[in-house]
Amino acid sequence: MTDDPCDDRRTTAPPETDDRFLVPLRGVAVDAETRCAHYDSAADVVALRFPCCDRYYPCFRCHEAVTDHDSERVPRAAFDDPVVLCGVCGTALSVRSYLDCEDACPECGAAFNPGCRRHRGRYFAVEE
Ligand SMILES: [Zn+2]
Ligand SMILES: [Zn+2]
Ligand SMILES: [Zn+2]
Repeated sequence: MTDDPCDDRRTTAPPETDDRFLVPLRGVAVDAETRCAHYDSAADVVALRFPCCDRYYPCFRCHEAVTDHDSERVPRAAFDDPVVLCGVCGTALSVRSYLDCEDACPECGAAFNPGCRRHRGRYFAVEE
């Protein structure tokens, strides 16, 4: 994995939106609760906003599949910004509240996949 900053923030493709969500969200075979082709268990209902393109994706593999740039991790300075979307109730959580939420949405109580937190270093600039 690379930490290369993505300097080119221009996108040549028109922004694609998905009417099922209130935020820009893309991915592969995304269902109405943000499960995707890669992670589709009952608890895989979280999407993350990638700072490189300011869109939500269900997982990094979705980002890889639908973009042509390397993903960037959420920087520490943005850990209080709402970048983690609960696909069940549509609430966007901050990285801090997501990491502190004990694997359930603080708003609606939906269970989150505990395995995702093992990958948190892939999405968030946490210490490794
Ligand atoms: Zn991106
Ligand atoms: Zn995916
Ligand atoms: Zn929720």
